[in-house]
Formats: sequence, structure tokens, C-alpha cells
Amino acid sequence: MDRNSEIVKFIRELYKKPEGFLPLHEPRFIGNEKKYINECIDSTFVSSVGKFVDRFEEMVADYTGAKKAIVCVNGTNALHLALHLVGVEANDEVIAQPLTFIATANAISYANAHPVFIDVDMDTMGLSPTKMEEWLKQNTVIKLDGCYNKTTKRRIKACVPMHTFGHPVHLDELVDVCNRYKIELVEDAAESIGSFYKGKHTGTFGKIGIISFNGNKTITTGGGGMFLFNDVELAKFTKHLTTQAKVPHQWEFVHDNIGYNYRMPNINAALGCAQMENLPLFIKRKREVAQQYKEFFATLGVKFMAEPENTQSNYWLCAIALDNFKDRDNFLKYSNDNGVMTRPVWRLMNKLKMFENCQTGDLSNAEWLEDRIVNITSSVLI
Ligand SMILES: *Cc1c(COP(=O)(O)O)cnc(C)c1O
Repeated sequence: MDRNSEIVKFIRELYKKPEGFLPLHEPRFIGNEKKYINECIDSTFVSSVGKFVDRFEEMVADYTGAKKAIVCVNGTNALHLALHLVGVEANDEVIAQPLTFIATANAISYANAHPVFIDVDMDTMGLSPTKMEEWLKQNTVIKLDGCYNKTTKRRIKACVPMHTFGHPVHLDELVDVCNRYKIELVEDAAESIGSFYKGKHTGTFGKIGIISFNGNKTITTGGGGMFLFNDVELAKFTKHLTTQAKVPHQWEFVHDNIGYNYRMPNINAALGCAQMENLPLFIKRKREVAQQYKEFFATLGVKFMAEPENTQSNYWLCAIALDNFKDRDNFLKYSNDNGVMTRPVWRLMNKLKMFENCQTGDLSNAEWLEDRIVNITSSVLI
């Protein structure tokens, strides 16, 4: 039997699905989802005010150890507002990794800022603090009010590392580089609820972290996002901005900022509360699947992307690195032709036409991974 068919056979046996379509990542509703949604409808509070919104925020804050969590309509909009909140202004630059989902780069554009793409590390597949420091050393000067790009003269205000497929980046080193270069850290933890770095939850290391609850993520609210904060005042201000910046008053409509309608409806939060109750179980099951994959791929001599040292990954999407681009495409074709959905990693941001003129550092690791990485079935195994 050739390698491609052996892998597909293993996945089907693991998921006990001998035939039919096997999606990449399915949501699981095995708890109180229907009960809470019914309660929500019966209460008539289906929109942006209600007890599930508050409860969902508390549950996520408790689980992640963030001082405060604030809900949002989705992860992309949370990222946009997070950049604004840390002080990113028009014509600033923001450091991002080229190997990410488009939302990270788009959010930088919404803030009218320019992304600078810096390479990822091979073990984390996320923003490399070493590569970032090398680039900063050569290309920037630090002034009283921040770090400036010598070529473009623009200020580099923030950096947005992304914890790829749930694997945390090297956070201690990244925090250190950001502090020394006066760069604000915003974590795109969209994929990494349930992932920890040295025992601390991802998304709680920078000034703001964001999580996504899109349908394909580890847990879902249909669509949704969350901000994580250690700064309670900043959290309160975020709640204000995401709710149209209305000054509380019994009847008057007065607004004191350009606010946003980034509120998550209570009915989505109801789903979120039920999903949060099962999160520890989901993470346990996902990690068991990853362990089985790890052992299987070792016998085949295929590289399985295991969690980096000092971290505990949620293994949102399991990934393997095939030998080269041709092997990757052959496997993608074979598996998808045979009903097992697999997909390559995202096309690098700097290769998309909207971002092709952006400044980049050396991107050799991201390019290596782009040619080889494939995501395989990763749903919670129930
Ligand atoms: C899913 C995702 C987002 C965006 O989240 P949405 O809730 O879909 O808007 C942002 N960044 C990354 C890396 C993601 O995977």
C-alpha cells in the first residue's frame, strides 16, 4: 500500500468513518447548547444584552486567567479594534507573520496601517522573536516615542504574533523583544483557546489578546470573538467602544466616541456558555488524537508538527510536513478525492496581491512550511 492510502486509511479508522465525507473540523454540540438557546429565546433577550453575554465573558476570563474578557462579533473585528486600542494609527507599521490566516493582515489594513512580514520559527510556525530582533536591529532606530523604520520613516507601533494551529509562539522571547523596541504586543490567539505557554494561557501575554469562535474553531458561537485583558480599565473602555460608545443614561442617547456595533448577541453567547462547559473535555480529546497521529506518522517517517517545548497546544488543526511541494499536492489530491478533507497551509500573505508590496524580512522558514504543510482531520473525537 502506498503512503497516501495508508494515511487516509488510518484517519478513517481513527474517526470510525469507513466511508463518506470526513470534514477537516466539525463543531460538537454535546452539552447544554439547546437548553441554553431555548432559555435565551424564552427570556426574549436574544440580542446584545442578556445574562449569557456576561456569563460567557466570566467563563472565558476564568478559564484563561485574563483579568477581564469582553465579547465581540468575531475575531477579525476584535483584532481591528485591538490594534486601534493599543494606539496603532494611520500610516504606522505593524509586524505580522506571513504564515497566517488573512484576517490578521486585513485587520492591520482596516487600521490604515502597513504590515511588515517577519519570518516564523520552524517549531512553532509562528512569529520568530529571533528573526524579528535581527530585522529590527538592522532596519530600525528607537526614538523617545517609539521604534522607527529607517527605510520608510514610519513608526512600528505593534506586532501581532499568531499561535498557528494552536501551537504557542516563543512568548517570553517575544515579550522581551517588544519591550526593548517599544512595540505593543497584540496576540492573535484566534486559534489557540486551550493552549498554554509555560502554564499561562495564550492571549494573556500582550496588552490585548483575541480569540475567535467561528464555526471551524475549537469551540464555536456560530460566529464570535473575545478580547482578553490584564488591564481592567482598558477592558471597560473596550466594552464601551464595542457597544456604540453610549453614555449610560436612563433615556438620553449621548455618545462620547466613534463607537462600533461589535456586540455579540446573547443567543450566540448562550451557545458559547454551553461550549465552554465542554472545553476541557474537547482539549483532552484533541490532544489524544494528536498523540495517536504522532505515533502513527513516526512509523511512516513523516514529520508531525508536535507542540513546541514548554507549551501545551490545543492541537486545533493537526498538521504534517511532507517532503516537498509535489508530495504535498499528491497527498492533497488523493485524500480529497477519497472523501477525507485535507488542506494546505494558507498562501503566504506577502504573495497575495493586496500585500505583495509590503516590506518583509527573510522568509525562508515560512516558505519551507508553505510548500509542505497539510492539515488533516482534527475534529474532537467523541
Ligand atoms: C479564525 C481566525 C481569525 C478570525 O476570526 P473570525 O472569528 O473568523 O473573524 C483571525 N485570525 C486567525 C489566525 C484565525 O484563524
